[in-house]
Amino acid sequence: MKILLVEDDADDAAFLNACLNRVGGTALDITRTDRIASTVDALRDGDFDVVLLDLHLPDATGGDCVERIQQIAPDLPIVVLSGRGDEDYAVEILNRGVQDYLVKWEGDGRIILRSIRYAIERKRAETRLNYLARYDSLTGIPNRQYLQDQLDRATTRARRGGKKMALLFLDLDRFKVVNDTLGHQLGDQLLKAVVQRLKDSIRAGDLLARLGGDEFAVLLEDIDGPLEVEAVANNILGAFTRPFQLDDRQLTVTASIGLTLCPNDNHDPLALLNNADIAMYQAKERGRNTFKFFTQSMHEEILRFHRLETDLKLGLAEEQFHLLYQPQIRLGDRSTHALEALLRWEHPERGSVKPDEFVSVAEETGYIVPLGRWVLERVCRQIREWEEEGLDVPRIAVNIAPIQFHQPDFVRQVRRILDDHGVDPSQIELELTETSLMKDTDEIRKCLHGLKDAGLRLAIDDFGTGYSCLNYLRRFPIDVLKIDRSFVADLDSRVDGEGICGVILSIAQRLSLESVAEGIEREEQLKSLAEYGCDFGQGYYFSPPLTCEAVRKRLARPASRRLPGLDVGRRAARG
Ligand code: C2E
Ligand code: MG
Ligand code: MG
Repeated sequence: MKILLVEDDADDAAFLNACLNRVGGTALDITRTDRIASTVDALRDGDFDVVLLDLHLPDATGGDCVERIQQIAPDLPIVVLSGRGDEDYAVEILNRGVQDYLVKWEGDGRIILRSIRYAIERKRAETRLNYLARYDSLTGIPNRQYLQDQLDRATTRARRGGKKMALLFLDLDRFKVVNDTLGHQLGDQLLKAVVQRLKDSIRAGDLLARLGGDEFAVLLEDIDGPLEVEAVANNILGAFTRPFQLDDRQLTVTASIGLTLCPNDNHDPLALLNNADIAMYQAKERGRNTFKFFTQSMHEEILRFHRLETDLKLGLAEEQFHLLYQPQIRLGDRSTHALEALLRWEHPERGSVKPDEFVSVAEETGYIVPLGRWVLERVCRQIREWEEEGLDVPRIAVNIAPIQFHQPDFVRQVRRILDDHGVDPSQIELELTETSLMKDTDEIRKCLHGLKDAGLRLAIDDFGTGYSCLNYLRRFPIDVLKIDRSFVADLDSRVDGEGICGVILSIAQRLSLESVAEGIEREEQLKSLAEYGCDFGQGYYFSPPLTCEAVRKRLARPASRRLPGLDVGRRAARG
């Protein structure tokens, strides 16, 4: 064991030497220095296992000595030697990362040796913990904590030195798919290979960190400006053009990158991380495999998002929401087959806000869950009201967002609401999106069957726009396909529109599903759809979404289920 004994008092040094030699013999290799200056030299030259440090040297105080030693040899354990009477100081020094202290002349060689061994063990554990807390265990590169510490320092340096720095945020495109389909082991291999590519495409002094999952960041200090940063981003994207070789598989993976500059965009480390993250999402939205610089307008967009989120919560509390009902018409006889409930938001300042503007925000924040519950409750109350007025109420379709549907107790919640309002489940049709059903899992199948068993009807909304794996149609108990209005719109421009509507309708017929075409605006669309055998239609051609008053009037008329102005339909109308 190599010991560096830093002690200016010759008697003290001799005493310690003698004590240690008595128990350690030749196994101990003791070097002595008597000043901090010579200690620094010795540390640079030699490879020591431990330092025994006298707290009072002629050329430095104890605290300074500890700091100097830690700078040169951060992993070296230190045991301080105090005289009688300054133990308090020794204890204080312990808090600066010293591993132990000994009071000189108290104790024999065995005690001193035990203290040394203990200090070495303790330092090793500290180093390990420090490493685990600051490095990513899979790839061995710094983790988020390390990056944040460095960012703090780098932003301070940039501010003081008038220099620029940049933060690059990288996320692999569709990594989840790779992980889910090829397994975690290959996913891990891929991440390690990605780290190698990243290391090869950045400059030597740049800090690469893994923030978690498939997210990485690169801290670029001392840069001239955006062009230099752009070059690094291009370099990285270029490195992803070659496929990765994992075992016997070749895999091509791309990445999306967000970039932010300091001091231009911000000085605050957390804000920088946030900005780079926002820019990365924009890169994803631009179609992935690209990079995007953060801009102030993005920041404003995020602020708008948060304001909208706050307003949504207030909106529900203050009853700013209401529902409109759009009729679904049976193409055969033009009777009203059902009504789709559509959410509207009357905001005191924003005015009337369409669902396209707030449903996505509500979904992202999870607020759609209470909002969706409110919709279902409102529909149930409405049904009861109309029924109590003696009206013949058609079935009502309610839109359900994916996260609502993916709640573990969704079936129970729905049944509860229907029960509470005394509404017959067959009165309600739930419109689910294709993305809700993307994962063909047991839970989803159980949930759909639960709803079916409870007596509700299930429709796929905007069919054909999402994930068109038709397998699920056979496996899940679906009643209705709703053809997205974009396909109906294409019917007149004949951009393959007829093809798609025709195909969807033939699928529906083959699987004995009912079909509803959305967004019918013109007679010709209606005719083509009827020719293809479409069952129902919905759209401005028949009626816009109606207020509950307007619906009430319509239902109150004797030929209640029919809409006016449809002479063709009247002819064929039943009863
Ligand atoms: P959706 O479920 O596909 O609803 C049909 C949308 O098409 C409605 O828009 C309706 O007003 C509109 N529309 C109806 N006929 C025509 C037409 O002839 N031409 C055109 N161009 N559009 C027509 P809206 O009410 O703005 O709703 C938009 C979307 O917001 C809905 O699409 C639905 O996905 C979502 N949404 C509405 N209410 C709710 C709700 O309560 N919960 C959830 N989760 N989503 C909702
Ligand atoms: Mg819908
Ligand atoms: Mg739709």
